[in-house]
Amino acid sequence: MTPEEFRRQGHRLIDWLADYQEGLAERPVMARTRPGEIRDAIPAEPPAEPEPFDAVLADLDRLVVPGLSLWRHPRFFGYFPANALPAGVLGDLVSTGLGVLGLSWQSSPALTEVEEAVTDWLRRMLGLSAGFSGVIQDTASTSTLVALVCARERATGFSLARGGLQGERRRLRVYVSAQAHSSVEKGALLAGLGRDAIRLVPCDEAFAMRADALADMVTEDLATGDLPCAVVATVGTTATTAVDPVAAIADVARRHGLWLHVDAAMAGSAMILPECRWMWEGIEGADSLVVNAHKWLGVPFDCSLYYVRDPDHLVRVMSTNPSYLRSAADGQVKNFRDWGVPLGRRFRALKLWFVIREQGVTGLQTRLRRDIANARRLAETVAATAGWRVVAPVPLQTVCVRHEPLGPDGAALDGEALDAHTNAWVEAINRSGAAYLTPAIVGGRWMARVSVGALATEAGDVEAVWAAMREAAEKDAAAIVAR
Ligand SMILES: *Cc1c(COP(=O)(O)O)cnc(C)c1O
Repeated sequence: MTPEEFRRQGHRLIDWLADYQEGLAERPVMARTRPGEIRDAIPAEPPAEPEPFDAVLADLDRLVVPGLSLWRHPRFFGYFPANALPAGVLGDLVSTGLGVLGLSWQSSPALTEVEEAVTDWLRRMLGLSAGFSGVIQDTASTSTLVALVCARERATGFSLARGGLQGERRRLRVYVSAQAHSSVEKGALLAGLGRDAIRLVPCDEAFAMRADALADMVTEDLATGDLPCAVVATVGTTATTAVDPVAAIADVARRHGLWLHVDAAMAGSAMILPECRWMWEGIEGADSLVVNAHKWLGVPFDCSLYYVRDPDHLVRVMSTNPSYLRSAADGQVKNFRDWGVPLGRRFRALKLWFVIREQGVTGLQTRLRRDIANARRLAETVAATAGWRVVAPVPLQTVCVRHEPLGPDGAALDGEALDAHTNAWVEAINRSGAAYLTPAIVGGRWMARVSVGALATEAGDVEAVWAAMREAAEKDAAAIVAR
C-alpha cells in the first residue's frame, strides 16, 4: 500500500466506522451467530496472492459486523460499560500508526513522558495524593498479578533472590472477598501461591467484605504458622458493584503488615466524582490499586491504570536490566518496562490523553452523573413495582433485579423454578435483539443485572429496557401458571 492508497483507504475506513456508530441503534444488540458460522465462512487457506483491499473491507460488513454483540449500542446493558469515545479511538489509531515501541525511555522518550503526565492527570482526577505513582498496564488482570507478585516479595523479604517460593517454609496467604473478580484468584495462582493460599473472607448482606472476619482469619493463620501476605479489597464488585470497606481493611492490613491492593477496575472511574469518593475512603492506606480507564470512563480497550505507593519496590521486583537496554539517561528517567510484565509497550497513553483533553474533566463527570441518575431512577421504579425486587444496593450504575411472581400453586416462585424464570425472561430479551442483559448469581440465586453506562444510553433507553423486562418477565410468568 502506498502512502496515497493508505490515505484513501484510511479516510474510507473512518467514514465506515462513523456510519457503523450511527446505524447501531437499528441492529440487534446481541449477535445471532451460530457457533462456528464465521469460522466456516473464512477460507481455510490464506490468500497466496495479494487481494484488493476493497475485498477485505467488504468482509467487515459481510462477516464481522453480523457476528458482533454491540457494546456501543444504546440498549447495551450487559457486563459493564466498555466505552470507546471517538477521541480515544483516534488516539489509538495514532498509537498504531506511529508504530513506535517503548522498551526504555530512550526508545521513544515521548511515549514514556506522555504516560507519566497523563497517569498523573488521572491521579489528580481520582482525588489520590501525590504519594501514588501510575503506570498503564493492559488490563486489571495484569495489574492485580503485578500487585500480588510485589506483595509476595515484600512478605518474603525478596524470596526471588533466594529459592523463590520453593525455598519458603511458611505458607503465604492472600485474603479476598467471596465476591472478588476471578482475576484475583488467577493472579494469586500465577504468582505461584497455589489455590490453598487463597482465603475467601465472608461478606455482609450488602455483599461487602467483613473486615472483622478478615481480622479473625489473619489471627487464625498467624497462630498456625502461615504468613499473611496480601488482602485484595474490591470497590465495585463485578456482580453487584458492592463496596468493600477500604478504611477498615486498611487498618487490618497495617496492623499485620499485609499488602493492600484495591481492585477498583470498574468503579474507579466514578472517583472522578467527588460525591462518589466515600466509596474508597481509606484508599491512601493502599499499597496499590487498579482503575480501568477502558471501562466506564471511555478510553477504548485496553488501558488499565495501576498506581503504587512505592515504585522502588515495584522496580526492584520487576527489573532485569540487560545491558542492551541500558542508556546514559537511566538515572533520570522512568523505564516503564520495569513497572510490569511486558518489555515492549504500546503508546497507550495517547488515547487517554486525547480523551481527557477532548472531554475535559467536566465532560466526563457529566456523563457519569447522567448514568448514575438513570440507574437510580430505574432502581426506584423497579422497587416500587409489585412482583419485582432490587436485590442489592445501587451505589453506581448497575441495578440487580429479580422478578418474583407467584407459581402455579399460588405461592411465590422460588428455588430452581425462580432461577429458570429469571434466565428465561433475560434470554427472551437478548434473543429479541431489543436489549442485552447479563444475568449473574448472587447469594446462590440468579438475578438480572442492568448495567447502565454505554455512551449512547439515554434515559429513554433505560425506560425501554424496563418495558421490555416487564413484558418478557410477565409473559414467562403467565406461561408458568398455565403449565
Ligand atoms: C472488569 C474487572 C476486572 C477485570 O478487568 P480486565 O481489565 O478485563 O482484566 C477485574 N476486577 C473488577 C472489579 C472488574 O470490574
